[in-house]
Amino acid sequence: MIQQRLKRSATIKLPLLEVCKAVLAEDIYSPINVPSFDNSAMDGYAYAFQDGFGEYTLVGQVAAGDSHSLELKQGEAVRIFTGAPIPQGANTVIPQEKVRINDQRILFNPQEFAKGANVRLEASQCKKGDLIVPKGSILYPGTIGLIASVGISEVLVYDIPSVGILITGSELQSPGIPLSPGQIYNSNLPTVYSYLKLLGIDKIHHEQITDHRELLKDRIQENLQKQDVLILTGGVSVGEYDFVKPVLEELGVETLFYKVNQKPGKPLYVGIWKGKWIFGLPGNPGSVLSCFHQFVKPVLLYLMGHEEVFKSDGVFPLAHPWKKKKGMSHFLKAKIDQAEIHILDGQESFNLLAFSSANCFVFLEEEMTELPIGSMVEIFKF
Ligand code: AMP
Ligand code: MG
Repeated sequence: MIQQRLKRSATIKLPLLEVCKAVLAEDIYSPINVPSFDNSAMDGYAYAFQDGFGEYTLVGQVAAGDSHSLELKQGEAVRIFTGAPIPQGANTVIPQEKVRINDQRILFNPQEFAKGANVRLEASQCKKGDLIVPKGSILYPGTIGLIASVGISEVLVYDIPSVGILITGSELQSPGIPLSPGQIYNSNLPTVYSYLKLLGIDKIHHEQITDHRELLKDRIQENLQKQDVLILTGGVSVGEYDFVKPVLEELGVETLFYKVNQKPGKPLYVGIWKGKWIFGLPGNPGSVLSCFHQFVKPVLLYLMGHEEVFKSDGVFPLAHPWKKKKGMSHFLKAKIDQAEIHILDGQESFNLLAFSSANCFVFLEEEMTELPIGSMVEIFKF
C-alpha cells in the first residue's frame, strides 16, 4: 500500500556541506582537468631527467601554492615540496631522503629513478568534460570530496525531508532528570532522532506532548503545516488516552492503513495529508524501532531518491532452533555473526536490552511455527 503512493521529493540545489547521504539528481561532469597542473608527489628535488646523470645544480625552490614560473635548463634542479608545480623544463622528482647535498649540488644514484617519477600529471584524476559521478549516486563523504576536487560547490539532489517527531505520553520524563513515581524515561526520542541522523536527515523538530486531546490536536496541526513528514510515538492503540488516530482523522489526514498483523508494532498507523507522510508508531520502544525500520525508513529513503528501499539483507541460517505461534509476523532482535543468526533473549516490546548487541531484525512470516537449527531466515540489518 505504501509503495503505490510513494513519490520522490522535488529536486533542489544544495551546498556540498549539506548533502551527506543525499542522492544526486544530475550527472556530474568535471569542469576542469584535475590535477590542473603537473605537481610534485614528494618533498624533494625536481630536475630535467638525463639518462645516467646523478648530479644537478640547485637553482631555486618551489613550494605548494607558488605560481612563479621557474624554467630549468639541462643539469639544473630545484628544491620542491609536495603539491608544488613542476617548473618548466623539469619532469622528474627525487625524494629528499635519496640525495646528498654538496654545496649547491645534489648527488644521487641515477639507476634508482626513471623519467617522470614522483610527478602527478595534469588530468591524471580526470579530464575536463569527464563524467565523474552519475545521477542516482548516493553522496557519501568520498563522493562529496571528489565533487569538491573539481571545484563544484552545489549539486542537484532529491530534497531531504524535514521531519517532526511528536512524542506522546504523560508518563514520560527526559533522561538526566530523576523519575517521579509512575514516570518512565523517554527513550523513543533519542532513538528516532538518531535514526533520522543516520539516514542523513538534519532538519528535525521534536516535542513532547502529554495525553490531552486538544493539546495533541493543536501540536499536530502546527507540525503538519511546518514539516514534510510527521512521526508520532505512543497514543495510537485502543486505550482511553490514545488520541492520535482520531485526532489525525479529525484534521483531515487520510488513513492509508491502521494495524498490521505483526509483533511488535501491531497498532501502527500510516496516513497521508497533502502528499506528506504521517506515521503513528505504537509507544513501546521495541515497536518504535521495528516499525521505523520496516515502514518509516523505506519511505524516507524513497523520498530522498534511493532505490530498492524495501529490500532485505538476504537470508541466513539460524544458529539455534526457534519456535513461534502461528498467526502473526514477527520482527525479532537478532545478531548476525559469521553469517549465522542468533535470535536474542528479551523479545518483549518494552525490553531494549537486546539492542546492546543486536545488529539486525529477523523477519518470520505469519505461518511459520517450528524453525529447526539451520533454518534460512530473512534479515534486515540496522
Ligand atoms: P502507548 O502506545 O502510548 O500506549 O505506549 C505503550 C507503552 O510504551 C507504554 O508502556 C508506554 O509507557 C511506553 N512508551 C510510550 N512512549 C514511550 C517513550 N517515548 N519512551 C519509552 N517508552 C514509551
Ligand atoms: Mg501513551
